[in-house]
Amino acid sequence: MKIINPATEEVVAEVELADAAEVDRAVERARGAYRTWREVSPGDRARLLRAFARQVEEHAEELAQLEITNSGHTVGNARWEAGNVRDVLHFYAGAPERNHGRQIPVPGGIDVTFQEPLGVVGIIVPWNFPMVIMMWGVAPALAAGNTVIVKPAEWTPLTALRLAELALAAGIPEGVLQVLPGAGEVAGARLVEHPDVAKIVFTGSTEVGKQIAAKAAGQVKRVTLELGGKSANIVFADSDLARAAASAPMAVFDNSGQDCCARSRILVERSVHDEFLERLRVAVQELKVGDPRDPETSLGPLISAEHRERVASFVAEPYFQGSCPAGPGFWFPATVLTGDRDRAFREEVFGPVVSVVPFEDEADAIRIANDTPYGLSGSIWTRDVGRALRVARAVEAGNLSVNSHSSVRYWTPFGGFKQSGLGRELGPDALAAFTETKNVFIASE
Ligand code: NAD
Repeated sequence: MKIINPATEEVVAEVELADAAEVDRAVERARGAYRTWREVSPGDRARLLRAFARQVEEHAEELAQLEITNSGHTVGNARWEAGNVRDVLHFYAGAPERNHGRQIPVPGGIDVTFQEPLGVVGIIVPWNFPMVIMMWGVAPALAAGNTVIVKPAEWTPLTALRLAELALAAGIPEGVLQVLPGAGEVAGARLVEHPDVAKIVFTGSTEVGKQIAAKAAGQVKRVTLELGGKSANIVFADSDLARAAASAPMAVFDNSGQDCCARSRILVERSVHDEFLERLRVAVQELKVGDPRDPETSLGPLISAEHRERVASFVAEPYFQGSCPAGPGFWFPATVLTGDRDRAFREEVFGPVVSVVPFEDEADAIRIANDTPYGLSGSIWTRDVGRALRVARAVEAGNLSVNSHSSVRYWTPFGGFKQSGLGRELGPDALAAFTETKNVFIASE
């Protein structure tokens, strides 16, 4: 597979794609490694994860540059991502010694529970945030005593491959973490089908997520699914309109809109709709689309020519479009649409395209926000704390923010309602997704 720099269209690497037989061999190695990894004492497993985090820290700039080259991420984002990988490893390095069971009072003996690892875990990763999404699964899975096979997205395997090398350099034994680039329908599908893979963590489109859930059901295989989104940014008339409008563009256009949490529907209370649109236009105009290595750049390129074509198919009559470079690179301008009639208002575009619509009152805003099969994230802008709470409780989504757009912190839970997913990643409870609870009764007589 030729790996292309999306900002220049140059080939930057060639990567061998694994076939089903290679997946089978990797699963065999992971099974072998599991027998010893699960027996590594909690303190030693913690030390190895910390050593892995230190390796990431020492190579953070290299990882960031690799992501810029492979994925076109802006330099600010890429550095944040490398830091997030380090932090997630440090956070879950604290988990092995805290993977407690319980002691439950029973007559005639004692009853204790153990949090047992699952075995071999397959982690299938999309191309939009390659290294962070990989590590959100890898770190808690390893902390709990599982071994892991990562299948990166076809277009973006480079940081994943480098992270596997850094794990080895940290002293994590061979076979505990393997990265296997491959086609989704071949290597990904084999991981899902393989009877010795105990769990699949899948992040990607809802369409493929449904296929994976259906296949996994045949073996009652555990799944965590992180899927698509069509999140609402709800702006009430009583909000700080200047802040709401100034922050709205990057809440959808960050990573060029290739973000599952993108607030791609902006719902604005009718009395301030026109004023908001005007302010939004000014804010969008200030965004710079271009060379991702330039710290002044807000949006880099899209991931591929194919994806750019798909994004373009959503745009017929834009209300406003920013500018973007011509020439080589998969560029697309920040685009604002109005109204709820087109496909872009209902479907996930996964590009720098946002739809703005008016609403009448609180009930109407909640109705529009929930009128989607997705439920990943969203924002609420108001100065009325009661309303903020009511709307936050009423919107059917897993990650909401009030008067801000933040949604992912590694120490808080992340995941979707409805067709945006199943299960939660990150946060204090992530190990539960990589363990089974075993109950043991010991008679005292
Ligand atoms: P995708 O579904 O096309 O691919 C995701 C991964 O699945 C890739 O590694 C691909 O090779 C693999 N795959 C494809 N077909 C497969 C199959 N039949 N069996 C097994 N594996 C298969 O998604 P994408 O285009 O890479 O990523 C974009 C999508 O990911 C968007 O819908 C976005 O919302 C979603 N996403 C969700 C989250 C979240 O946390 N909820 C985060 C990032 C991206």
